[in-house]
Amino acid sequence: MPLSPQDVLTDHAEVLVIGGGNAGISLAARLIRDGARDVALVEPSPVHRYRPLMNYVGGGEATMRELERPMRRVIPEGCRWVQDAVEAVDPVASTVTTRRGRRFSYGTLVVCPGMHEDWDATPGLQDAYTAGWASSTYVPSAAPLVWQALSGVREGTVLFTVPPEPAPCAATALKPLLMACDSWRRSGVLDDLDVVLAIPGEHVLGVPKADARLERVIASYGVRVLREARVARVDPVLRAVDLTTPAGTVRLDDLAHAHVVPHYRAPEWVTASGLGTGERGGQVDIDPETLRSRRHDDVWSIGDVAALQTSSSGGGLRKQVDVLARNIIAARKGRKLRRYDGFTVMPVTTSHRRLVLVEADRSGPRPRHLPLVSRFKPRRTTWLLDRYVLPVVYYRLLLRGKV
Ligand SMILES: Cc1cc2nc3c(=O)[nH]c(=O)nc-3n(C[C@H](O)[C@H](O)[C@H](O)COP(=O)(O)OP(=O)(O)OC[C@H]3O[C@@H](n4cnc5c(N)ncnc54)[C@H](O)[C@@H]3O)c2cc1C
Repeated sequence: MPLSPQDVLTDHAEVLVIGGGNAGISLAARLIRDGARDVALVEPSPVHRYRPLMNYVGGGEATMRELERPMRRVIPEGCRWVQDAVEAVDPVASTVTTRRGRRFSYGTLVVCPGMHEDWDATPGLQDAYTAGWASSTYVPSAAPLVWQALSGVREGTVLFTVPPEPAPCAATALKPLLMACDSWRRSGVLDDLDVVLAIPGEHVLGVPKADARLERVIASYGVRVLREARVARVDPVLRAVDLTTPAGTVRLDDLAHAHVVPHYRAPEWVTASGLGTGERGGQVDIDPETLRSRRHDDVWSIGDVAALQTSSSGGGLRKQVDVLARNIIAARKGRKLRRYDGFTVMPVTTSHRRLVLVEADRSGPRPRHLPLVSRFKPRRTTWLLDRYVLPVVYYRLLLRGKV
């Protein structure tokens, strides 16, 4: 029976979570484990993805089937799933409206719808994806095509980009580049290629010792690096990309393939609701330590959409979920709030079987776990952890609120 307008207006959730990605599912599961009742989660997609594996799909090391699960299987028991998309938040009235016209009031709101691709920021890019000569592992529909395209390249110029912040774990955009270079070297075609990497900053990660190590690897593959470079526009017909750099515009013509990651922005309703920072990317304006909205005490945010003053990552969410779950309870009881230190991870494969794992927080890189062992050495053990162990930990523990 269809809902009457009164029914729609009286729908209430004590805790309403927007987005069923890494952030939303882990948090809902953790809150329920901690005894919360009446947790509802708004998520339109029938599919949940463990997105870090998408880079391995782009390296021919995994399939989309391995990283996808039906959403109904990851929604925690005891959580109400509203299969719909949020279209507006009124933080003064404490209500949320969905695309299907449903309205919810909430006691506590957690905003975590991730970041959306900003195709308008790069004219021509979406058409180049459609034409098939541009792709990236960051776009689920394109990720399965990346390996097919890159493994077929035998000569010419190939462009890879790291997206400007804010973007989901931007550093891992180096993974498809370095796995492709490793393959091209082993098949003997690397010397016939002009491989170009465009990075938004002066250095690849911004962590000096890790940068030194990774830049040596990148140089060993003969990759040309364009620094402080951004893709301004793409000509889908001429297979050309214009990049702005401090030295002026660089045009790369007749590309064999372009692994160009789109720019990102928060959903428009974040800004429209007055919850955004007002800065580029429009992320949710929170205290980056307590994770609480600076303007509305009953609104919180974590994950890629939150302005956390650290680079976003699924690894960082382990800490954010713990801090936020405790803070929601602490705020209700008038207790002191915990603080998130900006912990994040930047895993970068340097070949098909080795990986550098960088962990940092707002004060800089994290101390090494083992004394006398170089933190930034590419290792097979960290590759095995990233490729095989973490996906299991993700689905069995993180999404069940157990970490
Ligand atoms: C290619 C790639 C590789 C990565 N590699 C790594 C890695 O190696 N290590 C690492 O730690 N991190 C990695 N990350 C980052 C990690 O995946 C993200 O930080 C993490 O997924 C963020 O979770 P989230 O829940 O904030 O956002 P998402 O995972 O994007 O989830 C957001 C959810 O919100 C939903 N949503 C969107 N709009 C609405 C709406 N209006 N209403 C309701 N729901 C909505 C979406 O459907 C989605 O399910 C990678 C990311 C990508 C894209």
